[in-house]
Amino acid sequence: MILVLKQGISPAETDRLKEELRSEGHLVKEIKGVEETILGVVGTIRKDPRHFETLPGVAKAVPISKPYKLVSRELHPAPSIIRVGDVAIGGDRLVVIAGPCAVESRGRSLEIARAVKSCGAVLFRGGAFKPRTSPYSFQGLGEEGLKILAEVREETGMGVVTEMTSTSQADLMMKYVDVVQVGARNMQNFELLKCVGRIGKPVLLKRGLAATIEEWLMSAEYILSEGNDQVILCERGIRTFERYTRNTLDLTAVPVIHALTHLPIIIDPSHATGIREKVSPMARAAIAAGADGLTIEVHTEPDKALSDGPQSLYPEQFKQLMRDLYVIAPVVGKQLDFSYLEKAKKLKATSAPPGKRPRKVVYPGEPGSFSHKACMHFFGAETPHENRSSFRAVFEAVREGEAALGIIPVENSSTGSVHDNYDLLLEYDVRIVGEVTLRIEHNLIGQPGTPLADLRRIYLNDIVTSYLKTPEFGNLSISHSKTSLGTELADDLLNVKGSALHLSKVIMNLVGNAAEAMPAGGTIRICTRNRYLDTATERFERIPEGEYVLLRITDEGVGIPAEELPRIFEPFYSKKKMGRSGSGLGMTVVWNTIKDHGGFVDIQSQEGVGTRFDVFLPATREENDRTQHRVVLQDYTGTERLLVVDDIQEQRDIAVRMLGKLGYQVAPAAGGEEAVAYLQAHTVDLVVLDMVMPPGFDGLETYRRILDFHPGQKAIIVSGYSPSERVKAMQHLGAGEYIRKPYTLEKIGLAVRRELDRKPA
Ligand code: PEP
Ligand code: MN
Repeated sequence: MILVLKQGISPAETDRLKEELRSEGHLVKEIKGVEETILGVVGTIRKDPRHFETLPGVAKAVPISKPYKLVSRELHPAPSIIRVGDVAIGGDRLVVIAGPCAVESRGRSLEIARAVKSCGAVLFRGGAFKPRTSPYSFQGLGEEGLKILAEVREETGMGVVTEMTSTSQADLMMKYVDVVQVGARNMQNFELLKCVGRIGKPVLLKRGLAATIEEWLMSAEYILSEGNDQVILCERGIRTFERYTRNTLDLTAVPVIHALTHLPIIIDPSHATGIREKVSPMARAAIAAGADGLTIEVHTEPDKALSDGPQSLYPEQFKQLMRDLYVIAPVVGKQLDFSYLEKAKKLKATSAPPGKRPRKVVYPGEPGSFSHKACMHFFGAETPHENRSSFRAVFEAVREGEAALGIIPVENSSTGSVHDNYDLLLEYDVRIVGEVTLRIEHNLIGQPGTPLADLRRIYLNDIVTSYLKTPEFGNLSISHSKTSLGTELADDLLNVKGSALHLSKVIMNLVGNAAEAMPAGGTIRICTRNRYLDTATERFERIPEGEYVLLRITDEGVGIPAEELPRIFEPFYSKKKMGRSGSGLGMTVVWNTIKDHGGFVDIQSQEGVGTRFDVFLPATREENDRTQHRVVLQDYTGTERLLVVDDIQEQRDIAVRMLGKLGYQVAPAAGGEEAVAYLQAHTVDLVVLDMVMPPGFDGLETYRRILDFHPGQKAIIVSGYSPSERVKAMQHLGAGEYIRKPYTLEKIGLAVRRELDRKPA
């Protein structure tokens, strides 16, 4: 029975209610959710649910529909995280348990433990009491084995997992072990289940050889009903008619278990397959299916193993598997953390003595945000964490010692650099002590015709070269083996704004068409260059004056008849055999994408000679996201003298403060006239000049006058908006870059540094 408590019920009232229910012989479990608190009431319930609704403080009574109660998701909707020392099973980080089937000797165990730990295993397994099919097989070292396990923990810091085969071993388990394993053969040994329930240590409950999921969960219920919630389920293969593998791994159990219970589930691919070569593929599949972890048998000399050698991985194989899992995990929102244990140690070390500063971590934003996710990936749910309402608040909390560590985003794969945080890193005396990357891939959706401009700055050459590495291009090269491809990519290419994904599709379609146009083979050329049209031109369509990035794709193919040219962008206009190479929408997509990017098309085609397809995309002078990345502050600090000229006081102050932070000696001037007067008496290495300063001199006028008495004076132009002729005129006179307000520390820092380092022409 689930009792939903009334909002605002006091702790004393709750306790009274629990007491009353317990006095009626029920087991009561309190679960505090975000929105409501519920009591799980289990045991033999004879009374009508309506009876419970009459109890003080109870808002609603709902029967639990499943035969298992405490383990059901109905009672406990949030996933449970089982803690073993610093390790948390069921959270964002995968937990891999590894070790030999049985503890064979001290030396061997330590050797294997060191090997698996170096590959990223966080718990060590090894049986001391082995449930063997034959009484003549190795039965395990017993207590001697447990002592060895305790030594392994002592030396490596890994918690140890071992099987308990009889209730008589309870005291030994209490003394030596971190996780008590209940083996497949004992899954329905109810006395043993009750016993491990009372021991209170985390339990690894293996699924029985022929147990249904419901029976398995009922066994878990036994453990929970004894008051021990720390159960980890382990699917280890079930007995089916298939004899090729030792058992049949039921991976369906992963999503089924996650739906039915809050308990975590790990997979044992070693016992499930019984064959070394099959272990890694099934381990990878298990993680892809969403398992919370794995338990894997590893042995340094499997040929000499006393049990289960044929299914034990060599350490090298285990290492490779862990690397594979590292790559797979993010797909299912998890992470394999190679420094799991060290991190926990480091975090403990950074905390001040207990009672003083809590060793919590702070992150910006709401729970569920990417920063929260990053926090979970890096530290795991077991680390106390808290959110803050802003980036600055995170820095504050760390500086004030309120939190041991903070998480802040610095690079975002969809929006680029988070400049605020680069700036805050400069402002606050804090250190970067770690890094975590989350995989974020977002698709963009919008109304048809929504302009993609302003989204991202893209370097088209990168799009071309990445396209040439795609499987699509690989297949094309194979199916058109007589066709070759040449590229001519301008290295001074300006950026364009828009969507890399969509522009890549344009290239794919145009290259695909070029290949189709040359059934007998030939050469396709992809060329990029900057193109400035000083007047509008009338071509395939009218292209206005402007700065463009030109993408040109030419072929030596059959050509397109002039009368058909106007129609080629229509849906289903295709000379290709439908079904073989496309949807018939390729060129329509090309057209729409070019239009979405504010671009234009020109086509020149001659039958029997070939086709030249030009895409004009508006150029931007902004740097692309890539070039802004990972610039280290040292790259743009300096000690030179600068003069900041700006008529707006806040703007002037910002520039003086930012450049001062980078180490420069900065003087301010409140306008062109003041700048000229200052420079008649002083010299500076560079002038940072605002363009528009009404009613006084503008940037160009100021610069002209400065040059009269300081020829060759270096300057950069900083402005919110300014007519481009005046900027160009200034650059013509020798001024350097033009950067747009509002700028970031990195932008202005880089521009200043580049100009100072530029050799006079
Ligand atoms: C084991 O983990 O070594 C073992 C004996 O497993 P199972 O109980 O799943 O057969
Ligand atoms: Mn085994």
